[in-house]
Amino acid sequence: MSLSFDLNDLEELTLNAKQIQENVLEEILTLNANTEYLRQFLHGSIDKELFKKNVPVVSYDDIKPYIERVANGEPSYVISGKPITRFFLSSGTSGGKPKIFPVNDEFFEDQTFISSLSSSIISKHIKDVEQGKALTFNFVRTQSSTPSGLQVSAGITSYLLSDCFKNRPSNSFTSPDEVTLCPDNKQAMYCHLLCGLVQRDKVVSVAAPFASALVNAITFLENYWKELCSNIRYGHVSEWITDLSCRDAVTNILGGGNSALADLVEEECNTKSWKGIITRLWPKTKSVQSIVTGQYAQYIPMLEFYSNKVSLISPVYASSETMFGVNVNPLCKPQDVSYTFMPNISYFEFLLVDEGDKVEIVDLVDVHIGCYYEALVTNYFGLRRYRMGDILQVTGFYNNAPQFRFVRRKNMVLSISLEATTEEDILKALNHATPILKSSDLLLMGFTSYADISTHPGHYVFYWELKAKNNNEIIKLHNKILVECCCVIEESFNSIYRQLRSKDGYIGALEIRVVQQGTFNSLMEIFISQGASPSQYKTPMCINSSEALEVLDNNVLARFISDRSPPF
Ligand code: AMP
Repeated sequence: MSLSFDLNDLEELTLNAKQIQENVLEEILTLNANTEYLRQFLHGSIDKELFKKNVPVVSYDDIKPYIERVANGEPSYVISGKPITRFFLSSGTSGGKPKIFPVNDEFFEDQTFISSLSSSIISKHIKDVEQGKALTFNFVRTQSSTPSGLQVSAGITSYLLSDCFKNRPSNSFTSPDEVTLCPDNKQAMYCHLLCGLVQRDKVVSVAAPFASALVNAITFLENYWKELCSNIRYGHVSEWITDLSCRDAVTNILGGGNSALADLVEEECNTKSWKGIITRLWPKTKSVQSIVTGQYAQYIPMLEFYSNKVSLISPVYASSETMFGVNVNPLCKPQDVSYTFMPNISYFEFLLVDEGDKVEIVDLVDVHIGCYYEALVTNYFGLRRYRMGDILQVTGFYNNAPQFRFVRRKNMVLSISLEATTEEDILKALNHATPILKSSDLLLMGFTSYADISTHPGHYVFYWELKAKNNNEIIKLHNKILVECCCVIEESFNSIYRQLRSKDGYIGALEIRVVQQGTFNSLMEIFISQGASPSQYKTPMCINSSEALEVLDNNVLARFISDRSPPF
């Protein structure tokens, strides 16, 4: 695959979506017909109809044993005709454990393809954007390895550490690679900002892969702008930037002291309101780029506030399983974003959602506008008809390639940063915490939860309605016991939550708000008045409606906050 892409490729690929998908499936089957996994269903055949008839639709738990065998050192051809050389660590979990997906370096070509296509599309819509630089908050995260010694890391980390990134044809970042690749994320964040401020006149876009990371960067700036200004004024990088290659690279960019620039940045940061801070500090900014759909939509108002309504672009839809597509209409409102699927990356099928017992699976080009689907992925690295767990709605077609709005991640109910906490995770956490209540003779009568991003960092709030075991007894809330409940809940969450909370500080301490008795009844009345069925009413495990949150918050009796970080 050539690694440079332009808008002709977009036309070519979308016009021929059907044929390209056919070719992709044929190639995948030819390469993988003799893998242990496919042999059991196809006996070596590469017939596409047989593939659809015999190969089962699977979820992670179905294929986990095969993936684990390769991770534990068995040959790749258990699942893949081509060698598996690494694993991507996904933000999704299965049974509380992170999912890992087999890949090899060819995945980096897909990542390069999607990001380069997206850049071409954005350049077409925003004049001269390629002439400036991008202040991009990219970070590498912790890596580990499988028992057989293959690397396991997040997709973005792997890409940043790959030769594809190192040898990219053009470099438009304000940060040198030494900053992006600095393993200490706090030092990296500081240096990203310092390099961005020093080159403020060149910055035309401010970006991060996900909206939560951009909001983190602004919060960090709020805490460090004085120190950053002092570094700019004296041309000296703070001593705590101890990563030597990072320090040298940033010192180089900083040059000598620049008190005029330091004064300017100080003046902007010293204002009471940080409205428009992005465009005030980087006045040539033409776009703010990061994913703002799905779980990240909650950050749209904040980013609009900080960026003074400069275009907020949600560029791509991507995952550890496969790249999916690009936003071909980057200047649309964040609420209207759809992604056009690219037919050359994986073979995509679509499972119609909510049709009772009827199972309807269609090809990429056969989806219907308005319908809701879950994508099934057959990729080059061992996934066959794999259920993605994302719910998508078809909004239209670009040539012959469908466009999808990201509706929601199945099962996910709470998220602040990269983690996806499911109903199952919450129930498990409650099962750990409620025995602690017994010691003070309290019963949990109702609960719900909420991801509160009005604090920095955002944190989980659990609303609890408690009752004394003995009727008519007044409830006594013991601080120690309820704080312990907060801690136990956090300890039972998956490792991605615990890392973001403990090591990275991207999630704040969990809070329990105890509400007055009867609050959950009032809540039920609201939902019923809005159309919920009284006979089937269940309190939602997570609440986002402002009306419901108001009822809950108006009835808070006491608040308790976790006082220790969960072990990571
Ligand atoms: P990961 O495998 O950790 O990279 O996470 C992939 C998941 O992130 C996807 O399955 C989606 O649930 C979510 N995601 C990725 N891109 C987007 C997007 N553009 N909008 C909403 N959610 C996204």
